[in-house]
Amino acid sequence: METPHYDVIVIGAGPAGYSAAIRAAQLGLKTASIDYWQDNNGNSSLGGTFINAGCIASLSLLESAKLFHLLNTDIEQHGIQIDNLSVDIGKIIERKRKVTHTLSQQIKQIFDELKIDCIHARGKLIAKNQVKISPVNDEPESILEAEHIILATGSKPTQLPCAPHCKKLIIDINQALELEEIPEKLGFIGAGIIGLEIGEIWNKLGSEVIMLEAQENFLNAPDQQIAQEAYLLFCKQGLDIRLGARVLSTQTADNKVIVEYEDAEGKHTLHLDKLIVASGRQPNSEKLAADEIDLLLDESGFVHVDENCATNIPGVYAIGDLTLLGPMLAHKGIEEGAFVAEHIADVHTPINYDTIPSVIYTDPEIAWVGQTEQALKAKGVDYKTGIFPFKASPRAQSKGKTDGLVKIISHADTDTILGVHIIGAEASELIAEAVIAMEFSASAEDLARTIHAHPTLSETLHEAALSIAGRSIHLPKKLSY
Ligand SMILES: Cc1cc2nc3c(=O)[nH]c(=O)nc-3n(C[C@H](O)[C@H](O)[C@H](O)COP(=O)(O)OP(=O)(O)OC[C@H]3O[C@@H](n4cnc5c(N)ncnc54)[C@H](O)[C@@H]3O)c2cc1C
Repeated sequence: METPHYDVIVIGAGPAGYSAAIRAAQLGLKTASIDYWQDNNGNSSLGGTFINAGCIASLSLLESAKLFHLLNTDIEQHGIQIDNLSVDIGKIIERKRKVTHTLSQQIKQIFDELKIDCIHARGKLIAKNQVKISPVNDEPESILEAEHIILATGSKPTQLPCAPHCKKLIIDINQALELEEIPEKLGFIGAGIIGLEIGEIWNKLGSEVIMLEAQENFLNAPDQQIAQEAYLLFCKQGLDIRLGARVLSTQTADNKVIVEYEDAEGKHTLHLDKLIVASGRQPNSEKLAADEIDLLLDESGFVHVDENCATNIPGVYAIGDLTLLGPMLAHKGIEEGAFVAEHIADVHTPINYDTIPSVIYTDPEIAWVGQTEQALKAKGVDYKTGIFPFKASPRAQSKGKTDGLVKIISHADTDTILGVHIIGAEASELIAEAVIAMEFSASAEDLARTIHAHPTLSETLHEAALSIAGRSIHLPKKLSY
């Protein structure tokens, strides 16, 4: 039988891979997509970690948890009383599965419309233009050929030797999104972005959450003023975040997890109903390429790529979480997928890695783009800052969402916006304005001179820009930072 031949084969159908396949097909390239993800019924489920066990899965649960929390606690400030409120965790998980299934099916629909061959199998690069297919069912292995091969196999949770997975008691992030009951006392190793998002879900649903974080600092990536504000808010909400806490060992007994950890004060022991390991992610590069073709990886397994996402093997590209280029975020992967497909089709559209926004979907949300104050200090760049607290926003007050602040950093001489950092309600939506401003090299004054509808949360950005020039309108002195 003749070996099937494509213009492009994409291994992995997470955001990076599906975007590459879709864009390649839109550009008229004959495309195949290979992915092995299975849903609970053993069926193919496109969308990778992002849809199945990442942002979409976790956001769906968080929406339910937030709603419960609102009705259970915050609703009283609106003068509304609700009695006999209860949670059906089975239905919450079921709703999450429906959301992920719908989105995965929509990707499949687009694949079908564009005539992308969708293969439910494990793919392995065996030559610069050949992929070996091992189907998920018992069908025989086969080989496909393509001019161009895009590796988009993403990442998986890192395992820790001190906390090996154990009998539904010590679990990873994927399992943490599928819990069938609400644990009374839930521990986390890691209080990073993913740990916090999942921690908030279970905390809002009623678990006591204890987070052990080895780093002394809380959240290294955002601006430290925002991180500090977040730390205080999350502690006030009831998350027990223990910094500088290194886990030494774990064991299970009587359906409990016993964790021994050490901090500046010495050794401690915790007894938990469950422990979630949220200590980072590692690339899915194991067995991705045959040894003899020498795909270049770094010591952590990330695939080495150049600025065009090209690997050391001609015609082979790598995108998304599989590489160290840019942050491990879905929208970075989506952009790289389209970029590589266009590069293959000789359409050249560069990616601006400097304006990729980051979001933490906690309550309140945290979002930022560009440089932090600490990074600018380290580089010796002179800058100005403008801050506006949500407390001073009429819209935030009427919503009852007054926690948080917006901070804009601009260049001391040119006033060009260098970074925007938000903690507060709908920060994930607000940050888009900052991204656009930075894409167009706007100054803080440009933002200050732009009329924003009143009263809206977007005015918090406007007011922060105004406050750089000392002319904020709605900021009483006692609320100034
Ligand atoms: C809990 C959680 C929350 C997150 N929240 C956000 C968020 O809010 N915003 C955000 O931008 N990012 C978020 N992320 C990160 C985001 O999910 C990843 O950055 C994104 O999924 C990476 O996309 P990808 O396409 O590179 O890889 P993945 O999404 O990991 O997809 C890789 C795909 O490749 C398949 N695969 C792997 N190996 C093979 C093989 N050999 N053959 C065939 N198929 C293979 C896998 O089955 C998978 O479907 C979150 C992640 C987690 C875990």
